[in-house]
Amino acid sequence: MMQACEPASDTSDGRLIVITTIPPIYSFTKNITGDTANVENLLPHGAEPHDYSFGPADIKKVSKAQIIIKNGLGLETWLDKLLASAAENAAAIGQELFVVDSSSGIDVMDNDPHIWLSPARAVTQVKNIRDALIRVDTVHAETYARNAAYYIARLQTLSNEITASISTFKRKEFVAFHSAFKYFADDYGLDQAAVIQKSPGIESSPTGIARVMDIIRERDIKVIFSEPGSSHKIVNSIAGDLGLEVFALDTLETGSLSKDWYENKMRANLEVLKIALNK
Ligand SMILES: [Zn+2]
Repeated sequence: MMQACEPASDTSDGRLIVITTIPPIYSFTKNITGDTANVENLLPHGAEPHDYSFGPADIKKVSKAQIIIKNGLGLETWLDKLLASAAENAAAIGQELFVVDSSSGIDVMDNDPHIWLSPARAVTQVKNIRDALIRVDTVHAETYARNAAYYIARLQTLSNEITASISTFKRKEFVAFHSAFKYFADDYGLDQAAVIQKSPGIESSPTGIARVMDIIRERDIKVIFSEPGSSHKIVNSIAGDLGLEVFALDTLETGSLSKDWYENKMRANLEVLKIALNK
C-alpha cells in the first residue's frame, strides 16, 4: 500500500533513503535505483524474516527513511509494530514514510509469502517497486524506468533458463524443508509434494512427519531438501530411514546484499535441483 505522493525530502547526501526488508527485495530495489537512491536492508545478515525481533536500531533506521519496501503477504509479521514506533520518531523529525507492499496484484496461493522464489512473480514485485519509486522521487522517474526495464529483461532471461532446464528433469516431485517453493514449483512445472515444517521453527508432530514419509514412499521420491541455517536433524533422520539423499535449497530469506545476489542464488538453486531431480 502506498500513500499520496510528495517530493523526496532532504537527506544527508540528498539521495532518497530506501529501506528493504529482505535480501531479494534489496536486490530488486538496488537494480532499479542504481546509485540514485541510498538503499539499505533492514534485517541484519542471518536474521530470519518470519519471526524477526526488531530493536531500537531498527526503529532509528526506519525513522530516517522515506520509503520502506516490504515483501508483504504476512512475511513481515513484526513490521506494523516497528512502523508504529518509527512513525513517532519520524514525525518528530518531520519525515513522512511511504510503505510499499511489493506483493500488490500477485496471485497468491494459500497466503504463502514466498513469491520472490519465482522470477516470473518477482517481475511483478520489481514493477511495484519501480512504480513506488517513481511516485515518490519523480525527478528520477526516467532512471528508475530505464533500470527497471533492463532488470526485468534479465529476470525474464533467468526465468526462461529455469523453464528450459526443468523441462529436461527426470523427476518433478520434491520434499522441501519449509513451505517456500510452492510458487516456484507452480510456475516452473515442479511439484512440492510435502514439507517438513510449515514455517521455520514450527516443529511438525510425529503424525505430520509420518505423513511426509508416507508421501515420499508413495511417490518414490529420492531426494529431500534442507536449507542453509536450518536444523538438519529431522531431515537427516527421515533421509536415513528412507535411504534418501539430502540437498540444500536456499529460500533466499537471508544472505548478502548486492545487485546480482538474487540471480546468482536462483541459478545456484537451479544447479542443485538439476542434480537432485535427475537422480
Ligand atoms: Zn519462509
